[in-house]
Amino acid sequence: MARPLALLAWYDRHRRRLPWRAVTGETPDPYRVWLSEIMLQQTTVKAVGPYFEKFVARWPDVTALGRASQDDVLRMWAGLGYYSRARNLHACAVAVARERGGVFPDSEEGLRSLPGIGPYTAAAIAAIAFDRRTMPVDGNIERVVSRLYAVEEELPQAKPLIQQLAATLLADSRAGDEKSRAGDSAQALMDLGSSICTPKKPACSLCPLNEDCLARAKGNQETFPRKAPKKSGALRRGAAFVVVRGDELLVRSRPEKGLLGGMTEVPGSDWRAGQDEKTARAQAPEIKGLTRWQRKLGVVTHVFTHFPLELVVYTAEVDGRIRAPRGMRWVPIATLADEALPNVMRKVIAHGLDL
Ligand code: SF4
Repeated sequence: MARPLALLAWYDRHRRRLPWRAVTGETPDPYRVWLSEIMLQQTTVKAVGPYFEKFVARWPDVTALGRASQDDVLRMWAGLGYYSRARNLHACAVAVARERGGVFPDSEEGLRSLPGIGPYTAAAIAAIAFDRRTMPVDGNIERVVSRLYAVEEELPQAKPLIQQLAATLLADSRAGDEKSRAGDSAQALMDLGSSICTPKKPACSLCPLNEDCLARAKGNQETFPRKAPKKSGALRRGAAFVVVRGDELLVRSRPEKGLLGGMTEVPGSDWRAGQDEKTARAQAPEIKGLTRWQRKLGVVTHVFTHFPLELVVYTAEVDGRIRAPRGMRWVPIATLADEALPNVMRKVIAHGLDL
């Protein structure tokens, strides 16, 4: 059987059941497809599941999400990481709700004009929600295709070639059949990559494409895709200050632009490579009457995409009458779950408060 048809036949039997995926015979909902694609950027299916369910329960369509405040969206997103996605998600919902009457454009070009939708996401939504004949290439598809064709070129340079080869796995639309099943072909490859053609120990005997897989024939499947060695960023260091007033904690909001933009944090120093403890400690917030900081044992570590981070945590308790310094606020510790706290700050607070 030709590869595209073998792939679709396998998908019809083994497709994953995912909360955002339409079941056989159901028309995909562009809102759910878009929401899941944004959430899945750099995040696993397992981590996204509960967030997706929470979002659609609270905002069942794009118009409802477009009416929400950005703060509410950020709060709901807290913990999922890469927060610029949440701000773009909200901006996109506002644009679709206000300027397009709640209807998503059905072409890649139209989709790309919206905030937060790049070439991959536009292709994924166009194929899955609107059955446009296009192949979005994610990490799973990159792996399957580079193995099938034993692509020797390294990533990222190999991307255009892999894109071209991936497009050959789309089934032809037959005469009289207006459905190309492009979305199913893409989802079939994604499922194949996540369940069979895995990074380590691919289950080639179960693969519908195993008969003409070049890497399998050579026996070097796991060496694909070829990748240029990664340059990881230098370790950055800083300090975080956990200040308690009775049952409240001192927090502030990060600047709108940049890393973790608009999220909630405890006051802290800047994060710099080679920063020593003394310099970081000297950036403690000035609070009237507070002179003694307690340094917690150990450090909090966190890994961002471009650099690892190590934070020393200092704690202090202040009198019930002390006012928050300019630009900061007291929030009840009991309601911290409602704050848009990124994971790194959750770790800092847990360390500082011995939670
Ligand atoms: S035969 Fe093996 S390596 Fe080739 S595509 Fe299938 S699972 Fe991947």
